[in-house]
Amino acid sequence: MKYKKERQEIIECARKMEKYGLVVFSGGNVSLRMADGSFLVTPSAMQYDSMLPEDIVRVDAGGNPIEGLRRPTSDLQAILHIFKNMPEINVVLHTHQSKAVAVSMITEKLPVISTTMIDEIKGEVPIAPFTISSDLGMGISVVEHAQKALAVILKQHGAITFGNSLEQALNAAVYLEETCQLYLSVLAAGRDVLILTEEQIEAEERPRGYYGQPKEEI
Ligand SMILES: [Zn+2]
Repeated sequence: MKYKKERQEIIECARKMEKYGLVVFSGGNVSLRMADGSFLVTPSAMQYDSMLPEDIVRVDAGGNPIEGLRRPTSDLQAILHIFKNMPEINVVLHTHQSKAVAVSMITEKLPVISTTMIDEIKGEVPIAPFTISSDLGMGISVVEHAQKALAVILKQHGAITFGNSLEQALNAAVYLEETCQLYLSVLAAGRDVLILTEEQIEAEERPRGYYGQPKEEI
């Protein structure tokens, strides 16, 4: 079986989606583009807590199975369409995060309202119109609406986040849900949501200082 380590990392990422409340049961999916042009995707309708590396399905760019006995996620054609049209990304995460879905029923886009949005999501998040699930149309709509941000909210459905790594796409999804909670809280308080100005966004984007720990121990 090829890519055992990456398969395990996909499962761990999917379990974190569940841990952070972005999906329940077998909802959503995780997909990873490999250097050889194949894709590793989570199987359809299987619980993440009992998922094994061999349950992850490996497919080619046309969706044909290369390795694995399971049926791939039912969103496979939509996800492959996203990968094909967004060659700069290696990971597609799909969630059913409820706060993002709530926001999709209130507004047409999630404006930049916090520094976290700039740092972790990379900008304002578009909201793609409603499309049915398990259908290529969802992928077409995501490609049409994707902007600079690492996320697109799917109206009355969930969200898609992107990244170069599983960690980056997962971070974007978790911080998207946190931001949507913030947005909803302000509306629930009966106040207007304050949107950051272009100047504030540019200042936040500018490299400065440091964040995190050094890679090597001192
Ligand atoms: Zn879905």
